[in-house]
Amino acid sequence: MTEYPVLIAGGGIGGLSAALGLARKGFGVVVLEKSPKLGEIGAGIQIGPNAFHAFDYLGVGDEARAQAVYIDMLRLMDAMSGEEIIHIPLDEPFRKRFGNPYAVVHRADLHGVLLNACEANDRIELRVNSEVLGYQQNGTTVKAEIVSGEHMTGCALIGADGLRSSIRQRLVGDGEPIVSGHSTYRSVIPTEAMPEDLRWNAATLWAGPKCHIVHYPLSGWKVFNLVVTYHNNAPEPVSGHPVPIEEVRKGFAHITERARKIIEHGTDWRLWVLCDREPVDSWVDGRVALLGDAAHPMMQYYAQGACMAMEDAVCLSHMMEHSGGDVEAALVGYRDQRVVRTGRVQIGARAIGEHVYHPAGVHAAVRNEIMQSMSTEDYYDRLEWLYGSTGLAGTSK
Ligand SMILES: Cc1cc2nc3c(=O)[nH]c(=O)nc-3n(C[C@H](O)[C@H](O)[C@H](O)COP(=O)(O)OP(=O)(O)OC[C@H]3O[C@@H](n4cnc5c(N)ncnc54)[C@H](O)[C@@H]3O)c2cc1C
Repeated sequence: MTEYPVLIAGGGIGGLSAALGLARKGFGVVVLEKSPKLGEIGAGIQIGPNAFHAFDYLGVGDEARAQAVYIDMLRLMDAMSGEEIIHIPLDEPFRKRFGNPYAVVHRADLHGVLLNACEANDRIELRVNSEVLGYQQNGTTVKAEIVSGEHMTGCALIGADGLRSSIRQRLVGDGEPIVSGHSTYRSVIPTEAMPEDLRWNAATLWAGPKCHIVHYPLSGWKVFNLVVTYHNNAPEPVSGHPVPIEEVRKGFAHITERARKIIEHGTDWRLWVLCDREPVDSWVDGRVALLGDAAHPMMQYYAQGACMAMEDAVCLSHMMEHSGGDVEAALVGYRDQRVVRTGRVQIGARAIGEHVYHPAGVHAAVRNEIMQSMSTEDYYDRLEWLYGSTGLAGTSK
């Protein structure tokens, strides 16, 4: 569609989704990935109905659906009493209301679906070992500076380069991410290793004082994803560091035994210290724009970071298609549609972390009373803005 391709820094879920969306609209795309290999970490991810709209738009609906496990409910357990607080059914009325299911999927499987589709698309070139250090632009093109010393020319540059985006530092300049002090440990275990009475077809959250445990089945029920978090004021960002089980246990001594014992079944635990950033609207500089975690890194408590990155890709592709060749206007239009929605998820994720995932004592009792006073329809109404949208203004499921 233009003489020069769209350059995308970063080949994560956001970058590959953008590559697919743009290529399907006729743009040439070059993905510049810093790592020597394109891939994802070995853990699970929850995907709301809004992500399924994106899969269809990106032309990978069938492939993505085939990788997913369709859970029956979102289940909230009290990690002190061991009792269920509430569950939100994800059955036919949910699917009908939001036009798609809620599911869980292995990250590598999801990334693989996007990667296969990119590799099969002649308009997309994927380059590894290609860290983007910066850019220059002249009003008609943008040049990405690559670590090798090479410069690549494009009609636009999309910074899909994650939490520590170097392109964001040029656009926003907000330095290091905000360290939440929440330590998250992940493990994926064979289904047989999960206690039989907890092999629920649910995304289960055990919420306790300053800590929580999440588990759900993955990969055709072959494995269970365990994600356990405690708020220990960890001072520095950490990403995927292996840790012994003794460290994981430390934050859960105060919760009910049934929940605590789940940790004993985990193996090969890895640590992430979670970070986010303040929402901002300075995502665009001429022919350069941010996408995914580079634009709106968030705490994981809405389970929406990757879903938002895919929505961004849909919106960006749509705006580029309808810009009549005015790339700068397309990027501003994209930003204008996405900033408030993604900011709402960033801010909301912090709030539900505090008021749903980690409260103690009376605060937890208040949570239980409020959440138990709501009907299934009430929950669906509250989630309408999130799950009922495709991320494109003026369209819904
Ligand atoms: C514990 C946890 C649980 C989560 N659970 C969920 C969930 O259930 N549902 C959900 O939707 N989201 C979830 N998320 C969020 C989700 O993982 C992220 O929002 C999503 O993966 C972001 O994708 P991205 O492509 O924007 O960034 P990334 O995945 O970070 O990809 C960025 C890519 O850019 C590359 N890169 C970096 N710098 C450069 C550079 N200068 N040049 C070139 N390449 C570069 C990196 O190597 C990487 O490949 C969770 C996050 C955490 C931490």
